[in-house]
Amino acid sequence: CGIVGYIGHREAYPIIIEGLKRLEYRGYDSAGVALFDGENLKVSKTKGKVSDLEILCEKENTKNGSLGIGHTRWATHGVPNDVNSHPHISNSGNLVIIHNGIIENYESLKKELISRGYTFKSDTDTEVLINLIEEIKKNENVKLGKAVQLALNEVVGAYAIAVFDKNRPEEIIIARLGSPLAVGVGKDEYFIASDASPFLEYTKNAIYLEDEEMAIVSIEKGIKVRKIKDDSLVAPYIQELKL
Ligand code: GLU
Repeated sequence: CGIVGYIGHREAYPIIIEGLKRLEYRGYDSAGVALFDGENLKVSKTKGKVSDLEILCEKENTKNGSLGIGHTRWATHGVPNDVNSHPHISNSGNLVIIHNGIIENYESLKKELISRGYTFKSDTDTEVLINLIEEIKKNENVKLGKAVQLALNEVVGAYAIAVFDKNRPEEIIIARLGSPLAVGVGKDEYFIASDASPFLEYTKNAIYLEDEEMAIVSIEKGIKVRKIKDDSLVAPYIQELKL
């Protein structure tokens, strides 16, 4: 039930772990993190507390990288266990997602993907979404942002998501319908979170996504916000947070 992400020049791990702790009040049963260090994508996730995740990351040496996403899960589809915890990775091993919310039509989407050869490790609706994104990206030969948008237009449900491709580590794609999502805007760095508390110590400039909006958060190109349905561009409104 909490999302934290970072892309920039700092180590993402401490920002994500501290951020997840600040979001603990939202309630959760599992926690996980995905980090990309320029070479390897590492995912550690576990049932339990953020403090259990820290112990696991120590053991699995999931610590390095200036691109990462972290999640606290409140299970809706699939019991709380390690495999069902987020992040989830697509079949190719390239795309990674965290998701708050519910994909209501995941069963029919899952059947279709299985008929096209996809396999699933977890019982979650979320793993269906990341593979749907992968299938669309491949079939339509589009960039990740477009693939996320097309996938979300096939989805019935509610979500806040963050997605990245380890082959395009300069950007994170985020989208919101029914679950909050904020972007902290720093200098050549961006913070993503369910609320501003994980990034307040780094920046006071924030963009809050509205429902049915998505954003491409890019180190090279800045932030582009669009409406998921009709693809129209939205001028991002940067708020200065007091505190
Ligand atoms: N529906 C997803 C799951 O059960 C996300 C739950 C959440 O909001 O944390 O894994």
